[in-house]
Amino acid sequence: MVVEIISVGTEILLGNIVNTNAAYLAEKCAGLGLSCYYQDVVGDNGERLMQVIRTALSRADVLLLSGGLGPTQDDLTKETAAAAIGRGLYLHEQSKQAIAEFFRQRGMEITDNNWKQAMVPEGCIVLENPNGTAPGIIMEDNGRHLILMPGPPNELVPMFENAVIPYLNTLQPGIIYSQTVKICGIGESKVEHMIEDLINTQSNPTIATYAKTGEVHLRVTARADEEKEAKKLVKPFVKELKTRFGNHIYTTQEEVTLEKAVVDLLLANHLTVSTVESCTGGMLAARLINVSGVSEVFKTGYITYSNKSKRKLLGIKKASLEKHGAVSAEIAKQMAKGASVFTKADVTVGITGIAGPEGGSEEKPVGLVYIACSVCGRVNVKECHFSGSRMKIRESSVSSALSLMRESILAYYSEVTFGAKKS
Ligand code: ATP
Ligand code: MG
Repeated sequence: MVVEIISVGTEILLGNIVNTNAAYLAEKCAGLGLSCYYQDVVGDNGERLMQVIRTALSRADVLLLSGGLGPTQDDLTKETAAAAIGRGLYLHEQSKQAIAEFFRQRGMEITDNNWKQAMVPEGCIVLENPNGTAPGIIMEDNGRHLILMPGPPNELVPMFENAVIPYLNTLQPGIIYSQTVKICGIGESKVEHMIEDLINTQSNPTIATYAKTGEVHLRVTARADEEKEAKKLVKPFVKELKTRFGNHIYTTQEEVTLEKAVVDLLLANHLTVSTVESCTGGMLAARLINVSGVSEVFKTGYITYSNKSKRKLLGIKKASLEKHGAVSAEIAKQMAKGASVFTKADVTVGITGIAGPEGGSEEKPVGLVYIACSVCGRVNVKECHFSGSRMKIRESSVSSALSLMRESILAYYSEVTFGAKKS
C-alpha cells in the first residue's frame, strides 16, 4: 500500500519550523510496511492545497495530512480535503462538547471561531484529540483514505499512535512485526556494506537502516497472517545480524537507548562512574543522568573547561598541559585518571576536543576530540575526527564516549574472565 505525506503550513515552507511531523510519519510508515514515494509541503493556501491533494489521490492509497486543522482563517485542510472528494461539513456534537470541556478545564474563554473545529466532513471517522481542540479526521473515498491530523507534534504523535496505526493495520492483510537492532561503534557506511547482501535480496522481512548520531539502527520488519508467524520470519534475520555485528549491538529493544545500555552495564557489574568533560560541557553527564536508576552508579560529573580547572580539580600538571596541549590523548587520559583518584569511581571518562568553529589549527583541526575511559585502572583512549557544527561535534563526542565506555567495560570483563588481563 502506498502512502503520501502532506505537510500543510506556510511556516514550514518559509523554514520557520522544521518539518518533524513528516520525518516522524515517514519513519512510522516504513515500520508499518507502507511504501512512501512522495512527500509534499504546501502553504496555507486553499487552491494549492487542493492541487496537492488531487495529485496525491491519483498516486497513493493513503494520504496523511498534518496541520491546518486549527480555528483560524488560514486553517483550511479539513474544508479543502472534504471538497476534494465532494463532501460537505456538519457540526459534530461530540467534538463540540469535547472542545467546550477542553476550554472549561483550562479556565479559558471560547471564541466563536473555535466551533469551526467541531465541523467535520460527512461520513468521516472522527478521532479524539485529548491534547488539543482539533479532532482528527479519516475519510474513505473510492478505496482512497484521507487522514487529517493536527500540526502540533504533541497532538499528532499520540493521535497517530493510538488511532491511526490501528486504522492503517485494518487496511492491510495480516499484521506487521518489527524488531530494531541498535549498533554503536561502527559507522553507517560500514554497517550498510556489511549487510549489502541482505538488503539486496530482502522481501519479507525487510531491513531498513537509520543513521543516528554515533549509532546506526537496523529495523527488521515482517508481514504475516499472525504475529507468531511474523516473529518467526524476523528471528533468523536478527540472529544473522547478531552474528555479523556481535558486541557492537547494544540492544534489540526499541525503548533502550545507548545511555541506558551503558548504565545497565554499570549496574550489572556494580561499577560506579564519574565523568570529566571539557568540550562537551556536561552533556555526557546529562545523558547518563537521563536514565532512571543512575543514582546507584553515578558519582561526580566535572566540567573542567579551563586549564586551571584541569589542574586544580584533577591534579593535572601545568608542565603536562604545556607539553601535550589541553587537546591531546595524554590529557584525556589524565582527566580520566584524575577522576579515578579524586572520586574513587570504577569507571571514569575524560573528553577533550576542539568543537569549533574557531580554535582549530593545522595540527589540531576543529572536530579533533580525544576520549579516554578508565575501567578499574585500565585506560583506553580514542582519537576522533568529527565534522559539522559545534553542537554536532559535541553530540558526536558524547555518543562516542558512551560507545567507548561500553567497549572498555566489556573488554575489561572478557579479559578478566579469560585470564588475559594485563596490567
Ligand atoms: P493549531 O490548532 O495549533 O492551529 P493546526 O492543526 O492548525 O493546529 P498548524 O496551524 O498548521 O496546525 O500548526 C500549528 C503548530 O504546530 C505550528 O506552529 C508548529 O509549531 C506545529 N507544526 C505544524 N506542522 C508541523 C510539522 N509539519 N512539523 C512539526 N511541527 C509542526
Ligand atoms: Mg493552525
